[in-house]
Amino acid sequence: MSAPIQPSPLSPVAPPGRVLVLMYHGIHESRADHGQFDPRYSARPRQFVEQMHCLTRLGVTGWVPVAGHALVAPEAAAGQHMVLITFDDGDVSNLERALPVLQASGLAAVFFITRNFVGQRGMISRAGLRDLAEAGMVIGSHGLSHQFLNTLSPATLAIELANSRDFLQQITGRPVVLLSLPGGRGGPREIQAAHDAGYLSVLGSSPGINVDTPGGGLIDRVVITRQTELAAFEQLVRWQGPAVWRQCARSRMLGLPRRLLGDRGYDRLRQVLVR
Ligand SMILES: [Zn+2]
Repeated sequence: MSAPIQPSPLSPVAPPGRVLVLMYHGIHESRADHGQFDPRYSARPRQFVEQMHCLTRLGVTGWVPVAGHALVAPEAAAGQHMVLITFDDGDVSNLERALPVLQASGLAAVFFITRNFVGQRGMISRAGLRDLAEAGMVIGSHGLSHQFLNTLSPATLAIELANSRDFLQQITGRPVVLLSLPGGRGGPREIQAAHDAGYLSVLGSSPGINVDTPGGGLIDRVVITRQTELAAFEQLVRWQGPAVWRQCARSRMLGLPRRLLGDRGYDRLRQVLVR
């Protein structure tokens, strides 16, 4: 298979030698929009446009090839601060709303697709996936069924990783070497299984900035939500200011009950609270 050009928009913003990964989901104005609206994770279309303009203003413009298909380009080690845009789940707004904005801004992104969501109501179709790939976007796996990988038996885990990758490779005709963990759940066992299945980089959803070449461990990501104001977005991209502290504090706060109750207990508690 030919080596793909992976989009790692290069940015001169400080601090150097780091890779900052942004995590989006859907782009929706309201529930009436095409796709699966989420009151927390759906960014507004105008908000997304402003954020992409912000990246352009900060100098995030280029594309760089990534050695060996891994996520991090050699430039990262050479002292550049890089920003990578990612989307999880495969909402149809990724294609209909995000792609045109990315293209107009000269940016690219990685789209993490859950295999069983493809073609479902409000989600990207097979043809849409092909369109994304042909537009130069990178397709990664977000699992087969969106089950949390750390809850699966080794055999089921292997099937999730292999089937989703094979499906996406067959549709796009490109190698699929990036995995983002559904729910951000997973650790050394899931990373090892992913590497065994041929993935080169595994992305989680803990906030952080990745130093140099994080191919071996879990790659941190900064979540962008409907509540992310432009000033906070710029702070997150620059990785300085109160927005960084707030996101890290929130993550630690949400992580505490999970550590105390375990994943299952945490999910039960969350269901009760959401209800
Ligand atoms: Zn997800």
